[in-house]
Amino acid sequence: ADKGVVAWKYATCGYCSTGCSIEVGLNAQGKPVASRGVADADVNRGKLCLKGLAEHEIFAASGRGTKPLMRGHWHEDWQATDWDAATLKVRDEFRRIQAQYGRDSVAVISTGQLLTEEFYTLGKLTRGLIGTNNYDGNTTLCMASAVSGYKRSFGSDGPPGSYEDFSHTDCLIAWGSNLPEQHPIIYYRLKDAQEQRKFPLIVVDPRVTMLAQMADIHLPLTPGTDVVLQNAMMHVIFKEGLEDKRYIEANCNGLEALKAEVAQWDPAKAAKVCGIDEETIRVVARLFAKAPAAMQIWTMGINQSTHGSDGVVGINNLALITGNMGKPGGTSLSITGQCNAMGTREWSSCSGLPNYRYLEDAQHRKEIGEAWNVDPEFFPKKVGLKQTDIFKVMETGQIKGLWIVATNPMSSLPNTASVRRAMQQLEFCVVQDCYEDTECNQYAHVYLPAGTWAEKDGVMTNTERRINRVTPLAVPPGQAKPDLWIFNKIAEKFNEDGRVNFPEKASDIFLEMARLSQGRFCDISGMTHELLEQRRGVQWPYTAEQAARGELPPVGGKRLYTQDATFRFPDGKAKLIALPFVVNYEVPDEQYPFWLNTGRLVEHWHTRTKTGKVGNNNKFSPIPFVELNPDTAAEMGIRRGEYVRLVSRRSDAVVMAQLTQRVRRNMVFLPFHFHDCANRLTIALLDPYSRQPAFKQGAVRVEKI
Ligand code: SF4
Repeated sequence: ADKGVVAWKYATCGYCSTGCSIEVGLNAQGKPVASRGVADADVNRGKLCLKGLAEHEIFAASGRGTKPLMRGHWHEDWQATDWDAATLKVRDEFRRIQAQYGRDSVAVISTGQLLTEEFYTLGKLTRGLIGTNNYDGNTTLCMASAVSGYKRSFGSDGPPGSYEDFSHTDCLIAWGSNLPEQHPIIYYRLKDAQEQRKFPLIVVDPRVTMLAQMADIHLPLTPGTDVVLQNAMMHVIFKEGLEDKRYIEANCNGLEALKAEVAQWDPAKAAKVCGIDEETIRVVARLFAKAPAAMQIWTMGINQSTHGSDGVVGINNLALITGNMGKPGGTSLSITGQCNAMGTREWSSCSGLPNYRYLEDAQHRKEIGEAWNVDPEFFPKKVGLKQTDIFKVMETGQIKGLWIVATNPMSSLPNTASVRRAMQQLEFCVVQDCYEDTECNQYAHVYLPAGTWAEKDGVMTNTERRINRVTPLAVPPGQAKPDLWIFNKIAEKFNEDGRVNFPEKASDIFLEMARLSQGRFCDISGMTHELLEQRRGVQWPYTAEQAARGELPPVGGKRLYTQDATFRFPDGKAKLIALPFVVNYEVPDEQYPFWLNTGRLVEHWHTRTKTGKVGNNNKFSPIPFVELNPDTAAEMGIRRGEYVRLVSRRSDAVVMAQLTQRVRRNMVFLPFHFHDCANRLTIALLDPYSRQPAFKQGAVRVEKI
């Protein structure tokens, strides 16, 4: 009331993947002045974290773009232009480059920040009209390993569990997940459930994170060795006959090969590699296998690794051999990063075609070709380059045109010096972003000012497959436009004969998507925008048949798989996959003796394009720092607050030292949010399946200045 709020408007938080329902308070002039959690929303039950509580501030943040801009070269000054000229320039330059160098010489990079209807439209435009196969999202930096691991184990992507599983589990292992800082409201759900049920919380993380501080057992393993720990746990489970033989027999293939692999990893041998003593490995394996229902969650500590996809498969192996799939409290749940990373997995066309359809499948190409009125032969027959590979190829000059939508690879990709070199090779770059002052815009030839978060209309999917509404409660500044409007404007230029239909309204696009989803794994045919708003989100699948029967979607948890072989491989069984361990990442040595670990802070979001401009978030965490063990610091004569130089094989960074026992003596930790800092040092080694970078395994030396 003291802020003069006269109306509260509903949306879903636009930061992390928790999917909190939020209300933004508007004053008499319609200006957003406050944010609060929605009490009757099952996800957050009235709560918001620090970021959500100040989310209304992002509308008026500095640096917003207000008009389209163009220039001939990135050395030149920007000139203001209009939407027609800017979008025509995009079409003409992309066509020129494709005619000269081939269809795939332009690339499109999007983001988990878009709304799902926007992803779908961008996918239609990119796959159906522009025709490049080099289309990916920043989600490759975030959860690509989870996608690939789910597909390898279960035959499809799609997180099987729900937050509700916390309330039914008897044991929980968190692999490389620091919920209190990364997903504070999921942490609140977990803590609430643990207080009720007193189940053991086991945290696997090389660093003593906030979640590790709350754990009953913390396993500070050697970076990169999750697969070894998983194999050793399975060794104990099989050796002591703790596996669920009935479940494996009924639901899984691949048991013998898995047993043969894990037989080599007795805990004594594994302890020497992963750094966890053998008795602790046995205790944890028994706790997990003997629990009536056991759950595993993970985040970037698993995904951002050259073993990311294998780490996910290892988690799934553990769940499957103990029958912890498809029952309340027994599941493997990837905690996704961005607010709509899941939407990109389901609908973006980055990794194929909409709604978990694949370019490799002729029937899928036919279905989408018919729906869009595009010749199926126009679609490529296999998926193109991921974002991390696009930039490698760009550096060698093979990609000449780039469209960057609401992401900031010059700050977020590993080894940013090579990213800068890649950007300098481009003949044409268009940046579409709500902020004009992003690092990438330095190299753009066209800038398209976009709306942000709840200046737009559509849906997002959270970690537990819940589709939530975002309703427009503010208008973009100046001539800036919602991303959907911009995609449609560009589509209009490429779609001269009007052959492909591009609906203007998000609700119409949602209905088109719902029709395309009917009968598929991710079936949303029973949903409408109205239902999603009314129910504060609905988990998929929710079918037209269910809606017709008047069957309401469940409020709490819904599981993807049952206890009876319902996986997505043709025989309905899941795959147990043997995971040999190889060292395919950078390890400390004499020259670079420290592990480099990077991660997120509770105050900030990604490259701080938003939170760097929000009062309290920035006040609490204004500058980069490096966590250094106090004993190491004492040996090197480094005091708290002094600046040190970190040097990797890529580059160096000067950062203030913070002394803490959170990191071991041979490790440093850097938040990744700050430009020209952590990612100057990180290495662009990639997971062979997901192409996700190993942000958390690098080597540096520390120099006293
Ligand atoms: Fe937003 Fe995530 Fe915080 Fe919820 S936990 S308020 S979704 S940032």
